[in-house]
Parts: sequence; C-alpha cells; structure tokens
Amino acid sequence: MLAPRRAAVVDHPWTWLHQVHGADVVVVEHPGQHAGASADAAVTATPGAVLAVTTADCVPLVLVGDGAVGVAHAGWRGLVAGVVGATAAAMADLGAPPRRAVVGPCVRPACYEFGTDDLDVVAARFGDGVRAVTTDGRPALDVAAGVRAALAEVGVLDVSDDGTCTACDAERYWSFRARGEAGRVATVAWIEGEEGTT
Ligand SMILES: [Zn+2]
Repeated sequence: MLAPRRAAVVDHPWTWLHQVHGADVVVVEHPGQHAGASADAAVTATPGAVLAVTTADCVPLVLVGDGAVGVAHAGWRGLVAGVVGATAAAMADLGAPPRRAVVGPCVRPACYEFGTDDLDVVAARFGDGVRAVTTDGRPALDVAAGVRAALAEVGVLDVSDDGTCTACDAERYWSFRARGEAGRVATVAWIEGEEGTT
C-alpha cells in the first residue's frame, strides 16, 4: 500500500529511514539510496532524490540550502544526540549549508508533560527556552524551541513553523502521546529535476 501512496506524493524513489532517535545522517547520492537505513536524517544534493522522515509527535525538520536539502526526525533524544547539527554539517559537506528551515507539525508544550530530570538534560544543552508548562501547569518540553536553538547554533535563523500541535489537531495528525495512535505523517523533501531517476 505504501508505494502507490508515495508515488501519489512524488513519483521518484524515496529514501525513508529506520528511525532510531539518534543523530546519524545518510548522504543520498542517487534516488532511493539508503532506503531503510538506520538513521534519523538524510541529505542530498541530487535532483529527484526524495528524502522522507515519518513522525507523530517528534519534530519533522526540513533544511534547505543552495543546492541541497535535508530532512531530520528530531525528538528530544535525537535533539540531545545532535541530529540537527549533524544534518546541517552533512549539508555543509555537500557544499550547501542550510540557510532556512521548516519545522513541521509536532507535539507542543501545552500537551507535552515531561519529566523534570530529562527536562534538565535538554535545558543544559539547549537553554532554558525549552522549559515550558502544560495547560494544567505541569513541567513540559518545548521540543520545537530546542530545534530552533539547535538551528541557531549552526546559523539558521530563518525558520518557518506554523505552530501546529499534533496532539491537539486530531483531525489532521496522528499523535502517539495524546491518543496512542500508530499512524505517522511523512515529511518529504527533494530537489526538482530528473537527473539520476529511473
Ligand atoms: Zn496540543
């Protein structure tokens, strides 16, 4: 079932990942390369190579440089592991460091109660801007704020984020945290063009 749905989005080979909440990045040199690899981010400078991450509550992140794109799956563990910086570095290695970013739908702090010990770990790395409270006043993590802090470290200040909360917006998004749903949203990025496709 997946293949026709992918083709309906963009009819090129996809590189999807076996996501493990780490910081490994695959560099895709031809469409579909590294499909199924254990990693949480992918970058490419090859037109027609479609990169995908799937998320429910973690942040799907798209990075755009001049001639390269990257996608990353950034939950709090991957964030602390350095997945955002690693993705940016991989793009820089391709000669196209990210200049802007898009933060996709993710769980927002109002809905994301978080253990204080783990919150301290994230705040120690990315600053107190990640500390928040839920709607009922419990400690919460603003994971998107952590992603923005990580982006700022690599000089990416142009960040789009429409603020959609996957836990609140049950009409459009899956949420494991809020509703125990197994569904995931795919976030895809590619560079337009036919080069290298089959
Ligand atoms: Zn919410």
